[in-house]
Amino acid sequence: AKKSGGNRIQFYAAKMNEEMLYRLEMEGYLRKALEKQELFLCYQPIIDIHTGAIIGNEALIRWRHPQLGLVRPGEFIPLAEETGLIHDIGRWVLMTACKQTKEWQQLGNEHLSVFVNVSAMQFQHEQFIDDVKEALRQSQLSPHCLHLELTENSMLRHLSNSIQVMNELKQLGVGIAVDDFGSGYASFSYLKRLPATTLKIDRSFIEQLHTNQSDTAIVKAIITMGHGLGLKTIAEGVETVEQLELLKMLHCRYAQGYVLYPPLAAEELVGYMAARKK
Ligand code: C2E
Ligand code: CA
Ligand code: CA
Ligand code: CA
Repeated sequence: AKKSGGNRIQFYAAKMNEEMLYRLEMEGYLRKALEKQELFLCYQPIIDIHTGAIIGNEALIRWRHPQLGLVRPGEFIPLAEETGLIHDIGRWVLMTACKQTKEWQQLGNEHLSVFVNVSAMQFQHEQFIDDVKEALRQSQLSPHCLHLELTENSMLRHLSNSIQVMNELKQLGVGIAVDDFGSGYASFSYLKRLPATTLKIDRSFIEQLHTNQSDTAIVKAIITMGHGLGLKTIAEGVETVEQLELLKMLHCRYAQGYVLYPPLAAEELVGYMAARKK
């Protein structure tokens, strides 16, 4: 037993070493990713359930590295936060998404919106409001077409600062969406104080929407509350026609998910938007 224990320790040590090296390597690569233009944005359409029209797109970051291949944001966004690289990356995402959306608007999609994910660290940084203003100024995008997505938990971190920043954004005319709504720790008293404009209903409630009665009840309650508070509601992760039909019956106005559109490269999306208009 002793012997195998020793082996195990060696094994763990080797594994830890491997992980540390991997992290260091990744960090080095990520530092270069921006200048080497390895980062790009995909866009996932958000539709009006009643008309099927694309009202906007969520910008989702991707990283294509020559050796690592395609790296998912779940893998490198946490690393970007730990290393502080998130500020440069986040600024780039904002600017790119605003400019791209303005371009699409000029092609005839006049009121097209864009939803941009913002990490807690980025949002709490004192420069954040200036970054948003700069992206709007350079892109000439109307602030009403920009929506920032924040999770409940990142809003609750440093609550009074969050409320202040959100109010400033609201005054600019920028929308604020609560991402993954229902999966975090926000209570009703927080929701009352947070100047959000949109609730994005977390995918976990949509998954078994038509088979699980609790999920149906929760989603129904979120939609009703959203209406009462004057908030838009977007259902995330809609994967089946049954889910979409049920959401329509529950008067959810907007939806996003694989059954409608997957995240698309900018070139692909422009074709869909053109096709819809014919
Ligand atoms: P999120 O903001 O909750 O984004 C939704 C995720 O669900 C995306 O994964 C999207 O591709 C995926 N998805 C969309 N429709 C469906 C569906 O019908 N079913 C299922 N199962 N999944 C669906 P993705 O692109 O891998 O992004 C993961 C997370 O990474 C995002 O979660 C967001 O938190 C973060 N992220 C993505 N882009 C950015 C960014 O530019 N900045 C920051 N700070 N975070 C980002
Ligand atoms: Ca999001
Ligand atoms: Ca989400
Ligand atoms: Ca999420």
